[in-house]
Amino acid sequence: MGIESSCDETGVGIVRLHGDGAVELLADEVASSVEQHARFGGVVPEVASRAHLEAMVPTATRAFETAGLTLSDVDAIAVTAGPGLAGALLVGVAAAKAYATALDVPLYGVNHLAGHIAVDTLQHGPLPAPCLALLVSGGHTQLLRVDDIASSITELGSTVDDAAGEAYDKVARVLDLPYPGGPPIDRAAADGDPTAIAFPRGMTGPRDARYDFSFSGLKTAVARWVEGAQRRGETVPVADVAASFQEAVADVLTRKAIRAAGDAGIGTLVISGGVAANSRLSTLAAQRCAEAGIELRVPRPRLCTDNGAMIAALGAHLVAAGAAPSTLDMSANPALPVGTVSV
Ligand code: ATP
Ligand code: MG
Ligand code: FE
Repeated sequence: MGIESSCDETGVGIVRLHGDGAVELLADEVASSVEQHARFGGVVPEVASRAHLEAMVPTATRAFETAGLTLSDVDAIAVTAGPGLAGALLVGVAAAKAYATALDVPLYGVNHLAGHIAVDTLQHGPLPAPCLALLVSGGHTQLLRVDDIASSITELGSTVDDAAGEAYDKVARVLDLPYPGGPPIDRAAADGDPTAIAFPRGMTGPRDARYDFSFSGLKTAVARWVEGAQRRGETVPVADVAASFQEAVADVLTRKAIRAAGDAGIGTLVISGGVAANSRLSTLAAQRCAEAGIELRVPRPRLCTDNGAMIAALGAHLVAAGAAPSTLDMSANPALPVGTVSV
């Protein structure tokens, strides 16, 4: 059983660990409070915590119904220990401790970001070692070397300012599109020309760090461009702006990921996190990986955004690896570093 509550999704997933190490998805129930945050243009922590509290038990109940199992079938529990919003994490951690105590089963406090990578094994099977992960979500944009999903994840680069998802959400606001911005920009871009506007590709100059990212300059460039059009009384070509912005993001992300894979001699790239659901990112990544002879793995969109199945999957890999469970005095860590897979 996996429990996720780091941001605005309450997720409960149930997986079965097979003898050969394969992990099978049995249930993946998510309750989102995203609509309660939409009018604020971002997640309100107190609202998220309250929503987790209300949704936790009903979401777990639905997951067991879907899986055709009961609580007494649970052998181990994994819960997101961090990173994330403190008050939101605490709800999941408290619930997981209660379930683990009542059922007398081991408890694993796990890293949300490692969960975003581990979820891919539910769809595509075991991860080859090493593999490269491009984690692109609302709060993170990182290139990670994964030598063992249960114990060894090393950061190669990350954003120096905004996360890719954050840039999507901010650009959506500039274009008067709803929150969260990723899906509406993706849809608007489908009718636009990605070469209409040459937006900047941050941190791709010869003196820039090889695997780091920057998206705040891009976000500002889009805002300036739109303001300029409005000042001149022109209609903003939303589709072209969306497509050109999306092209810049996908270009930088795939360029750096392929460079990192090539430098390290790694043959598999996994893209995960909410922005991995982006249609242009997956298309461009597929094209460039094929050219570079790199195997590309992208989980289906539903698995890319926050859910409990990703936490259950990571928990199953920890059980399979014989990792030590967490103790009951384990606590949530809002700033848990990506290299700490379990606490
Ligand atoms: P983190 O995992 O870093 O704590 P998070 O859990 O909030 O952050 P996710 O749920 O993984 O992030 O992803 C949410 C982000 O994904 C949002 O910023 C959203 O705009 C973006 N997103 C979702 N779908 C798409 C899409 N089709 N194209 C681009 N971005 C998308
Ligand atoms: Mg979310
Ligand atoms: Fe996430």
